[in-house]
Amino acid sequence: MKSLDVDVVVIGGGSTGAGVVRDVAMRGYTAVLVDRVDLAQGTSGRFHGLLHSGGRYVVSDPNSARECAEENEIITRIQASAVETTGGLFVTGPDDDPEFGDKFLKGASENGVPATEITVAEALKREPRLNPGIKRAIAVQDGSVDGWQLVWTAAQSAMEYGAKVLTYHKVVRIERDGDTVSAVICHDAKTGEAVRIGCHFILNCAGAWAGQIAAMAGCHDVEVVPGRGIMIAMNHRLVNTVVNRLIYPSDGDVIVPVHTVCVIGTTDVKAPDPDNLPIPRDEVQQMFDAGEVLIPGFRKARAVHAWSGARPLVKDSRVGAGDTRHMSRGMSVLDHSERDGLKGLLTISGGKLTTYRLMAEHIVNAMEEQLGTPHPCRTAQEACPGGATDGSAHTYHVTHRLHDREQDRMHDQILCECELLSRRMFTDKLAELPHGSLDDLRRQLRLGMGPCQGGFCTMRATGVAHEVGAVDTERATGLLRLFLKNRWLGLWPILYGDQVRQTALDNWIFSGTLDVEHLPQGAEVV
Ligand SMILES: Cc1cc2nc3c(=O)[nH]c(=O)nc-3n(C[C@H](O)[C@H](O)[C@H](O)COP(=O)(O)OP(=O)(O)OC[C@H]3O[C@@H](n4cnc5c(N)ncnc54)[C@H](O)[C@@H]3O)c2cc1C
Repeated sequence: MKSLDVDVVVIGGGSTGAGVVRDVAMRGYTAVLVDRVDLAQGTSGRFHGLLHSGGRYVVSDPNSARECAEENEIITRIQASAVETTGGLFVTGPDDDPEFGDKFLKGASENGVPATEITVAEALKREPRLNPGIKRAIAVQDGSVDGWQLVWTAAQSAMEYGAKVLTYHKVVRIERDGDTVSAVICHDAKTGEAVRIGCHFILNCAGAWAGQIAAMAGCHDVEVVPGRGIMIAMNHRLVNTVVNRLIYPSDGDVIVPVHTVCVIGTTDVKAPDPDNLPIPRDEVQQMFDAGEVLIPGFRKARAVHAWSGARPLVKDSRVGAGDTRHMSRGMSVLDHSERDGLKGLLTISGGKLTTYRLMAEHIVNAMEEQLGTPHPCRTAQEACPGGATDGSAHTYHVTHRLHDREQDRMHDQILCECELLSRRMFTDKLAELPHGSLDDLRRQLRLGMGPCQGGFCTMRATGVAHEVGAVDTERATGLLRLFLKNRWLGLWPILYGDQVRQTALDNWIFSGTLDVEHLPQGAEVV
């Protein structure tokens, strides 16, 4: 068995785990971050893309509102390349109660959430597709955030401070020495090897799976409730600022512009299993109906992809066990020495992607309190690599498209027209991730994420990977098949109207021209 020893093992490579390993490494500890799959393949890659201003919670959850407002300013400063400062609007729909706006403004001013009421005419000037029947509009500082980029840049910062990041390492066992944790045993999915990581402390940041990890250490009944929500990407930016309904948080009340598309969401239903998150047709319909209230004609636009994620909500004794919509979005740290008599293990859950840095600060402070070795937290002061927008980011904001293209993509083949992904960007990332799947590359490069959903770029990317010698024919076939299969998961729930035509075209390309179904059996790709 392969083995290594560190001070701290962080379990879970979502936003929380990435923030935690960064903080731990910056405070001088040796640390390793493990995830069973790629970074941000859990909820942090399956969320709505909103960098909250705090507005959404000013009435329902003032504490979360305050945290979001403070962290929004920090994340925008330290991870600028992951954020688009779109701004946001809260608008009263034609049938919504206009008086909610007064509660909103009061809550915003009490909780430090910048908010200014503007005229309906001004709101319609800023967002011409908005429903002309809206009754009030309040401008806030919502933004759009790329979860993959946020997590990877935090992880890169941790690595610069000496931390190791092991993706595709699933935790299968936790060892203890008497009443103290002593090691984490992982299964390396790429090599099939077992890996033992000896440690003094384990920080459980496994999100909706945190209860499973705690149970491996013998701590039962850690109640993290997976709150499932669906989101749908539309084929272009119907809005350029985040548009929210000015009502108590509800289903389908936010549209977020994300890169080339915009995303409507979401629902909130208790899920029995965070690994089985369906996208029910009635919820899809609910999203289109809700979109229509904000943007007339929304239903006629083309939906390009749907997905669902699981909020790691802390069970709240004040609300019913199945009522995830009303559970707090606040964070909480569980001390297993107090609760279960096991030293060296802390679990964190709840919170938001927007507040991930603060969550990390809290759990690392709690660890240091137990170790008796306090160090100041510096994560809010220091930018992550690529934090400043210096043009080096792999992705782009729509407003920067032409600029980026002129700077570095004019003389290079474009693999993905929707996302302006060049051959060079693809081959550089492939060299960094030689064992990566096309989905691993997608998460960092947005390959196949635009309006055609991989119809044209998937075969080009596979061909280039083969041409440069990065993969043999068998693996190329395996990569192509897996990518198409995964794209399909997000397509079939939204097959209607123009999307049926696009999918039929893509299918014709792959089945008709390439005859993918009859290619020789490809290699199995993890
Ligand atoms: C529908 C929806 C919409 C949302 N929208 C927003 C939004 O717009 N803005 C916002 O700020 N927040 C939003 N959130 C909340 C936010 O996405 C989550 O709070 C946040 O991403 C949780 O991050 P995490 O790191 O705690 O969990 P995750 O990202 O799920 O990370 C946990 C990790 O643990 C890993 N893991 C599990 N088991 C094991 C194991 N045995 N071994 C190793 N690793 C393991 C998983 O693979 C996963 O990567 C949304 C959530 C949902 C569900």
